[in-house]
Amino acid sequence: YNHRLQRTEKMKIISDLAASVAHEVRNPLQVTRGFLQLLAQKSDSANERYYHMAINELDRASTIITDFLTFAKPELDTVERINLSEEMNQVVTIIHPLAAMHGGDLHIEIEENLYIEGNASKFKQAVINILKNSIEALPPDGRIEIEAYAGEREVTIRIADNGEGMEEEQLARLGEPFFSTKTKGTGLGLMVTFRIIEAMKGTLEFRSEVGKGTEAIVRFPLAEENLVPDRIRA
Ligand code: ADP
Ligand code: MG
Repeated sequence: YNHRLQRTEKMKIISDLAASVAHEVRNPLQVTRGFLQLLAQKSDSANERYYHMAINELDRASTIITDFLTFAKPELDTVERINLSEEMNQVVTIIHPLAAMHGGDLHIEIEENLYIEGNASKFKQAVINILKNSIEALPPDGRIEIEAYAGEREVTIRIADNGEGMEEEQLARLGEPFFSTKTKGTGLGLMVTFRIIEAMKGTLEFRSEVGKGTEAIVRFPLAEENLVPDRIRA
């Protein structure tokens, strides 16, 4: 028992450290990117492509940090009661511009006053990683449905896209570190997502059909009812 406790503490130290390093690294990357862009504009065409290669590599580094730690802060990883409806609406606000850029329509149905237990930043990161994949898989007339509703004891979040879909063997490999079918993919997004959802006692399932689309189903236990007077009255 003791042994396991120590292991958990070590993991926490490592993840806090990773989060703070990521924050510190992201800023200089952005600044460097800005200067490279300026230089690219002023350079002759022979040198321009080197600047663009450098910018692409910086973007790769930023994507890795984003997939890992979109919202993670080097703060204590407290378990709190989360207003899932509010967090989901924030996620939609954040993801909306990216969906628009890919010409995707978002259809949103989020029930109000859904509460779960966990860490709000990590929760948002998990959902954003799923949504980013849906957006990246979209055809020109893309459509993504985002739903959240309560059952008796659990909350379900459903994210469905009409994107390219996946083969059976692709489905089986989801969450494997560095598994990616994208030229600029990190293959880290879903690994992080599975770990977060598991840590919050939830589950994540995918269903998919090539050419039709993909559906992600996330389930969390509803927060203890005595913590949720709103729902008892409802
Ligand atoms: P990345 O997005 O960097 O490739 P992820 O871990 O987020 O890494 O996803 C791994 C792989 O799972 C993707 O490269 C893609 O092949 C597949 N995938 C995940 N979600 C979807 C989706 N909604 N539609 C189609 N393929 C998907
Ligand atoms: Mg991804």
